[in-house]
Amino acid sequence: MKSYFDQIVKAHDNLGRRGMTNYGSSNVLWLQPPFATIAAHELVIYLIPAGTTLVTNGKLQQGRPPGQHDGNTNFLIPNSPPPGTTAGSEVFPNFPSTPQGLKLVASLMFHEAMHNKLALTNRQLHPQLGLASGPPETAAITDTMALTNSNINAMAASLDIARPQWTAGLSLLTQAVNVPDSDPMKGNW
Ligand SMILES: [Zn+2]
Repeated sequence: MKSYFDQIVKAHDNLGRRGMTNYGSSNVLWLQPPFATIAAHELVIYLIPAGTTLVTNGKLQQGRPPGQHDGNTNFLIPNSPPPGTTAGSEVFPNFPSTPQGLKLVASLMFHEAMHNKLALTNRQLHPQLGLASGPPETAAITDTMALTNSNINAMAASLDIARPQWTAGLSLLTQAVNVPDSDPMKGNW
């Protein structure tokens, strides 16, 4: 993820727009409580088990990943304030912890980051190919697919756009993890 986003930041800084922040390099990290404030230009991607969803309705519930698209981005979470304005992205890291599997998860996270940051639907994003690829418009992302110059330029041009992230999922996941194993509700969501 960092190697992907460092290329975006470099391209962004090279645009040299007047008055624009030069970021230098990207900052990719795992969030842990207590959670820092997420700036409007930053992105949050949730990694959650396949068979669940957070961003569909803004709560942790059973869900089905879209076909051959092991991630999901939603802009219309009704119960997050203010309604309909925050972006939530999730990826189901349902792959072996091999170099190929981990690269695929990072590429899927980048793909959802593109939906999120660029505010593009499947039909708008997937024909851009590279890590923008996705069914049904184009091929599903594989571990051999690469970030393209057009992917880099699209993200670099939008890096400063404020895209408030849906962060309520952070506390929802923390609560779910903290349910004791003895609680009969555990595993029922
Ligand atoms: Zn997609």
